[in-house]
Amino acid sequence: MAKIPINIVTGTLQQEEIIVGIDLGTTNSLIAIIHPETKKPVVLKEHHSSSLVPSVIYFDSSQNIIVGEAAKAHLQTDPANTIFSAKRLMGKSYTDIEQHADFFTYKIIDDDTERLVKVQVENKFYSPVELSSFILKELKTRAEHILKTPVNKAVITVPAYFNDSQRQATRDAGKLAGLDVLRIINEPTAASLAYGLGMQQNEEKIIAVYDLGGGTFDVSILKIASGIFEVLSTNGDTYLGGDDLDRAILSKWTGDLNLTSADLNKDPRLSQALRLKAEEAKKHLSFNEHFETTLNESALSINRAEFEELIQPLISRTLNSCANAVSDAGIKKEEIDVIVMVGGSTRIPALKEAVSEFFGTEVNDSVNPDEVVAVGAAIQADILAGNNKDFLLLDITPLSLGIETMGGLMDVLIPRNSKIPSKAGRQYTTQKDGQSSMRISVYQGERDLVKDNRKLAEFNLAGIPGMPAGLPKVEVSFLINADGILIVKAKELRSGTEQTIEVKPQYGLTDTEVEKMLLDSITHAKDDIAQRALVEARTEGEQILSTTEKFITKNSLRLQPGELMNVANAMQALQLALTMEDKDLIHQKTEELNEISRPFAERIMDEAVSEALKGKTIQ
Ligand code: ADP
Ligand code: MG
Repeated sequence: MAKIPINIVTGTLQQEEIIVGIDLGTTNSLIAIIHPETKKPVVLKEHHSSSLVPSVIYFDSSQNIIVGEAAKAHLQTDPANTIFSAKRLMGKSYTDIEQHADFFTYKIIDDDTERLVKVQVENKFYSPVELSSFILKELKTRAEHILKTPVNKAVITVPAYFNDSQRQATRDAGKLAGLDVLRIINEPTAASLAYGLGMQQNEEKIIAVYDLGGGTFDVSILKIASGIFEVLSTNGDTYLGGDDLDRAILSKWTGDLNLTSADLNKDPRLSQALRLKAEEAKKHLSFNEHFETTLNESALSINRAEFEELIQPLISRTLNSCANAVSDAGIKKEEIDVIVMVGGSTRIPALKEAVSEFFGTEVNDSVNPDEVVAVGAAIQADILAGNNKDFLLLDITPLSLGIETMGGLMDVLIPRNSKIPSKAGRQYTTQKDGQSSMRISVYQGERDLVKDNRKLAEFNLAGIPGMPAGLPKVEVSFLINADGILIVKAKELRSGTEQTIEVKPQYGLTDTEVEKMLLDSITHAKDDIAQRALVEARTEGEQILSTTEKFITKNSLRLQPGELMNVANAMQALQLALTMEDKDLIHQKTEELNEISRPFAERIMDEAVSEALKGKTIQ
């Protein structure tokens, strides 16, 4: 029986399980959903607290794991047991991070520099995957608490420059936290989605995403066409972010207070307090002209003009990266249609102006820059949940695509839910000796037998050179391009003869029909498995029959009459079994025929070999 969850918050039946969007950030992480009723993105937060969960993990003296704001408080006071920036270690070896080893105040194991890094806390070792899973687990628990429903599925974002192993590590972290990670998407893509970019079918745009977070700066140039995002280039600085802006204020103040860095090192509490005040000042100056406070009875102050002067060099560095990204993308600045601002640090007015001036156009900053990536992840999650059908058809193939093989079986080349564009290929061969053409029939659907699926197209690959069965190599490749058009190509590899057709799989297919086809495949799953097994048994039986037949015709003179009789009987029994719907019987008769023919097949082979050794030919 199917379980239908009820959402206690909204009081509605939830047809589909909720899928959340997660921004797993270097500094802060957060979780968002599309509200089932209002269809609007909602960033999840508990009452009176921020939606941002600092990506910090604290291991207390009894090895309890504390994540978030409470953990952040231990950064300066207990640095060895407080892990921050775990994201920077994902998929990395010690050699990869050696240059920045000073940055980490906790112990990173360096005895095997090529292996993936581990972090040591007291006498325990943690991989970055485990550390990230603690953050994800915390987010999951919070979301379940707020939504009052289990949360098991998620879309998680990663930087566009993450390589495959870093993406896999992120997936693994999700799994470890008990989340089924339906998709990993790029942070700049998510941010663009949050601005509604890429949701229109015929939209073509070039987008620059400027993301200045707590410790990292990324700029990405994306191209969006037919709902597909392509990353043209990425650039940035993995050690430049809001923390550097705080440090700029901090060093001004240590100067004002006549303190040295030695003084600060001696007193972690003082330096922590100063750092927090500096961050407070920075944030305050995004909306005000002047900031003042006191620390241990000393007055501290800074105004906006002073701050802007301090951070000018940092802003210039980010603009340099932007220039590089633009040239790597092979475009001109003027071709960029939209600039999207991401990351808490982009709230700084002077920074916004500088970016806008650099690109020569206004920046998009209407969506909260802390939340924009999580919001985009939630939009993607909603699309995957099937709540946004127009987009679903555009972004992924709703039904599997394949060709007919022996016995009318469906051989899937591109499984359903594959992202488009998508490509797949497989080799096939002929069934008969001297077969000069091959029929390629293209189907769509989830059933095991093609007769239950939807036929899309059919063509003949002619001109296959005469060869014994099984020798020709015909490569069939499927390509669904960004417009959702399926291009099927068949090519005989020896002769090079080939043929191509194009079909539009979604043409004339409504959402209801797609749904029905999916439902049918579930209802008939058991029958289908049985049918497939029967067809496979028959195909095998037929093959054995035909090889035995060939063998006997060729070697009839070498067989004794008794042997001939036995084989003929076994062949007849198999032939009869093939007409019945009983796969076990077919297997049994195939096996019997094999048993009977094996001994003399071996004997004849031996004779042939010894004749060959005497200088005669085998044939
Ligand atoms: P990440 O993507 O690295 O996890 P975020 O996007 O959450 O980081 O950005 C965090 C940074 O944004 C911090 O350095 C924080 O101080 C900074 N920040 C937040 N609000 C403001 C503000 N109003 N003005 C300037 N900087 C801000
Ligand atoms: Mg971020």
